[in-house]
Parts: sequence; structure tokens; C-alpha cells
Amino acid sequence: MAREPESMAKTESLFRDVNERIATAADQFGSEEAEFVCECADPKCVERVGVPLEVYESVRAEPTTFILANGHEEGSIEKVVETRRRFQIVEKVNRKVVAVVRKLDPRSGAPDLEPG
Ligand SMILES: [Zn+2]
Repeated sequence: MAREPESMAKTESLFRDVNERIATAADQFGSEEAEFVCECADPKCVERVGVPLEVYESVRAEPTTFILANGHEEGSIEKVVETRRRFQIVEKVNRKVVAVVRKLDPRSGAPDLEPG
């Protein structure tokens, strides 16, 4: 069953929030790499991917790029921009998805609540 792009974007943003906490914890322990959750559109995905924090940071610097387990991309909303041995980096291409992930970007500094 096809899902709404907005719904998929929210799922991915939720995984991204989880990973932000994982990155913070790993950083506090001085780790160079951490086991992140796959940030794909499947809310039931439990895949973990080992990603160097340096790479994670570069992905997070862009609100529209996400880390996925290989093969987990959803072609209708994102395209693979880089494939590594254990994970891949995707960029959102669907306009609605881009709008949602930008709005929910944990690094944007925007307030969580907005009028309306
Ligand atoms: Zn996944």
C-alpha cells in the first residue's frame, strides 16, 4: 500500500531524532563510530548501521540527507547519493518530503511549536 510522502517523512524524522541522541551519547564516550538506527521510511525497520561519527555529522549538516541501511531507500521520495559498505546516504527529492524534514530538522534551531 502506498503511503503519503508526509507520513514517510515523519517516520524518517523520528529515526533521525533517535540518532541525534545516539550521536550525543557516543560523543560523550569519545567513540569514533556508533550504531545508528536506519533512517528509512519503514516505521517497523529495526536495522542498525555502524557509521563513523564524522560521516554522521556531515550527513546531519544537511537537513535533507539521511543514513539508511543498504537497499532501504524509497525511490519515490529519495535518491541514493553515496553507497558505503555498510550503509548508504540518501537525499530527499520529493518536494513534500523535503518540506517536512526541513521543518523537523533537529539542528535548525527552530521552535518545536508553531502557530496554527
Ligand atoms: Zn530501514
